[in-house]
Amino acid sequence: MDDVIGREAAINALSVAQADLHNAHAVGLIRAQKIISDLPSAPQRTGRWIPLQLSIAYPPYQCSCCFGNAPMVMVGTGRLKKGHLEALLTDFCPSCGARMEGAE
Ligand SMILES: [Zn+2]
Repeated sequence: MDDVIGREAAINALSVAQADLHNAHAVGLIRAQKIISDLPSAPQRTGRWIPLQLSIAYPPYQCSCCFGNAPMVMVGTGRLKKGHLEALLTDFCPSCGARMEGAE
């Protein structure tokens, strides 16, 4: 499996699990936290959002790295407005974690 998880989130999850354990088992989780802390970082991939249909006003987009879809959000709604779905072009791909071109 080649995916990305947050180091801090993994360590925090182990801390929460550790609180419910007896000492002998907690030592194992502390060692696991140290191992996770010492792991090298994965190289950051850079991708871009690719529009799938150029002929429509609000096309869906895909990540150039994993082909995951950009999240779609409803915008333009109001009292008399129906609104429409529009791709939310995030700075990072929610599927693979790639940093998108133009992200700050
Ligand atoms: Zn992706």
